[in-house]
Amino acid sequence: MLSFIKYLTGDQPDARPALRFFNTMSGEVETFAPLSDREVKMYNCGPTVYDRVHIGNLRAYVFADTIRRTLDQWGYAVNQVINITDVGHLVSDGDDGEDKMEKSAKKRGVSAQDIAQEITDLYFADLDSLGIDRSKITFPKATEFISEQIALVQTLEEKGYAYQISDGIYFDTAKFPAYGKLGNIQLAEQKEGARVEENPEKKNPSDFALWKFSMKGEKRQQEWPSPWGTGFPGWHIECTAMIFKLLGKQIDIHTGGIDHIPVHHNNEIAQAEAATARQYVRYWMHGAFITIENKKISKSLGNTVYLSGIVDRGFSARALRYWFLTGHYRSPINFTWDALEGANTALRNLSRHCLETEGEAEPNATFVADFLAAMADDLNTAKAIARTWDMVKDSSLSPAEKRASLLVADQFLGLGLGDQQAARQLTVEKTIAVDELPENVQKLVADRQSARAAKDFGKADELRAHIDAAGYDIKDSPDGPRVTQKNS
Ligand code: AMP
Ligand code: ZN
Repeated sequence: MLSFIKYLTGDQPDARPALRFFNTMSGEVETFAPLSDREVKMYNCGPTVYDRVHIGNLRAYVFADTIRRTLDQWGYAVNQVINITDVGHLVSDGDDGEDKMEKSAKKRGVSAQDIAQEITDLYFADLDSLGIDRSKITFPKATEFISEQIALVQTLEEKGYAYQISDGIYFDTAKFPAYGKLGNIQLAEQKEGARVEENPEKKNPSDFALWKFSMKGEKRQQEWPSPWGTGFPGWHIECTAMIFKLLGKQIDIHTGGIDHIPVHHNNEIAQAEAATARQYVRYWMHGAFITIENKKISKSLGNTVYLSGIVDRGFSARALRYWFLTGHYRSPINFTWDALEGANTALRNLSRHCLETEGEAEPNATFVADFLAAMADDLNTAKAIARTWDMVKDSSLSPAEKRASLLVADQFLGLGLGDQQAARQLTVEKTIAVDELPENVQKLVADRQSARAAKDFGKADELRAHIDAAGYDIKDSPDGPRVTQKNS
């Protein structure tokens, strides 16, 4: 399909509405003007692959994808990088505590590398289900850029920004007077955000580790030789070294969740700008957090929701994406299962409209202009979706015109409208408790379980076919069989 904008403007860049993004650095919505006319360099802080990503993390990547799709549609060539942090991210955002990777590996009795691989694969599967096109993105692993990180620390040392204490090489924030400029962070606030126990050897509380030494007597799984001793890179240096290597010394857009503002991103700015003496990032963009049932997502509260859990309950991953987009990326949103069900239903209706309408038509020009204006206004997806519903309900438009309009809107929204397979996943199938099934199906399920237990898989398959013929789907999960009524 022709790009939305090209369709509208006949490929005349001047006719495109100006894109405006909120820049955390200035605290204002600014007109977007990239370093180069046609290319945009964008870096999105990626996951630390010690544990599965939850739906809060996924919001950050759908946000990045929304920027990406919008830039694509605006005709830019986007060079996008999302890092995979597989070493050096410590339990506290300061520089204390264990490395999350090593801790998780020890706990599960597997190697840090195996965990990284497993979690990265799950992460990629989540991105795929959410309609994020991985083939357009570079995903560097921190462990594959160790020499670049060491070289950057050396540069900082040569320029007088680094000093050594007993547990590592640190950045001296007193030497970088603009420290804390992103989000106007006061040091007290930063310390509070990071909940850091102070290291008495540090010159300033906000100083951060560039390289950490392996502790005496400790054998880390992941450690490397360096000019200062065996150890591993600090989390912050990873992002900057990979950006320098893959995108260059100055980039257009850098994103993350708002939790990254006080520490991680201010540290990135300090080390990058100290090394190059020039501006590091032109537009800093941060996504707000989601809460679950009005509470922070937290392991200790046990309220974490994963995409797999959503799909297990019979919802489509794209329904989660739709739900994310109904809120502006800078607004906190609260997840509830009811809200997800509502999103699933809404998306199913849009999707049906696309799939069940026949005939070709041009998209509605007024709608297109309004939709573009909403996206250009700091990616106001909430407004864009509301406008989409107004268009769908407008009885003066033909079904084909609505369908064509929906399909161009989907270039931005990424909901898979018009995609048969995505639509099939939208039919909410509620798992039916086995004892609520008709008796004959209950028996088939029980017999199949016995056949599986006896490893008689031929018989189990035969019984599955009977269950299928009775109008039910059966899937095996760690908690036993899940039975759902088949879609008619
Ligand atoms: P992490 O792996 O902890 O570095 O997190 C990966 C990304 O998810 C970061 O950009 C975080 O800011 C973001 N993130 C973490 N928790 C949430 C949440 N509850 N809501 C939205 N974004 C989050
Ligand atoms: Zn980062």
